Amino acid sequence: MPVKECRVMAKQRSVVAGVDMGATHIRFCLQTAAGEIVHCEKRRTADVLVPDVASGIAAMLHQQFVHYDVTCCGLIMGLPALVGKDQRSIISTPNLPLSAGELHGLADNLQASLKCPLAFSRDVNLQLSWDVQENHLVDQLVLGAYLGTGMGFAIWMNGAPWTGAHGVAGELGHIPQGDMTQHCGCGNSGCLETVCSGLALKRWYEQQPRNYTLSELFVHASDELFVQSLLDHAARAIASSVNLFDPDVVILGGGVMDMVAFPREALIDKIKCYLRRPLPYQEVCFIPASSSAFNGAQGAATLASGRFFAKQ
Ligand SMILES: [Zn+2]
Repeated sequence: MPVKECRVMAKQRSVVAGVDMGATHIRFCLQTAAGEIVHCEKRRTADVLVPDVASGIAAMLHQQFVHYDVTCCGLIMGLPALVGKDQRSIISTPNLPLSAGELHGLADNLQASLKCPLAFSRDVNLQLSWDVQENHLVDQLVLGAYLGTGMGFAIWMNGAPWTGAHGVAGELGHIPQGDMTQHCGCGNSGCLETVCSGLALKRWYEQQPRNYTLSELFVHASDELFVQSLLDHAARAIASSVNLFDPDVVILGGGVMDMVAFPREALIDKIKCYLRRPLPYQEVCFIPASSSAFNGAQGAATLASGRFFAKQ
């Protein structure tokens, strides 16, 4: 989509909006051209999407535009979904309680309501955009591995998220390196996420009564065979991506890696075991993701700022 000059009414400030829609919560931020965050908020997804997705999101944003007396120049919205190369079509939504059919036409409907241009993005691309910005890595080749509900993965190349020929690059969670007897939410069997994801970890935890909470799993069960196997699967997959892409930096994050006592150093050591030597083994750098819940929304707002504000 070409950069569109934003024309605003006299005295009215202009902003861009970044929205991060998850299964449970929607987070959104409004940001000025100077990079000032005007507003950040989290709401329950189910409460927002009434009476329908487009009307609910438009009403949520419009309320803040009125409150701050601002004009919106553009919106980028992230979803845990496959997003088409056109950045307007949503192809597959295994991790949302909404079918791709229910989201059909969402871009046109939202754009008509908000009267500003918009684009969709896979949520991990927004998280990576934020981490790249925060760590001043814009000119580098960066991979992001986010072990959360799924095995999120994103690629930063040539100054932007790299999305492939069809917009769907980076589905590391769906390489066929999992349990071939299990079906994955994407419709295939044997995806990595069947054995390496927050969902797989929760399934294992719930198999029998445990005398600790799920959030304390790594305090009490790091040495269990299933947990060690999950870490080894993660290490092999991440090492494979490093051997393929030869990145400068790998960012490691996500809800599972944020859990108490997650063995981050042990995971990095395992990944290094599988790296090609002498390179990229000697040079690739591993850094932790920043773990604020608003990273996706702020990453979206930052990308929206670069795209929709007129270049001075
Ligand atoms: Zn899958």
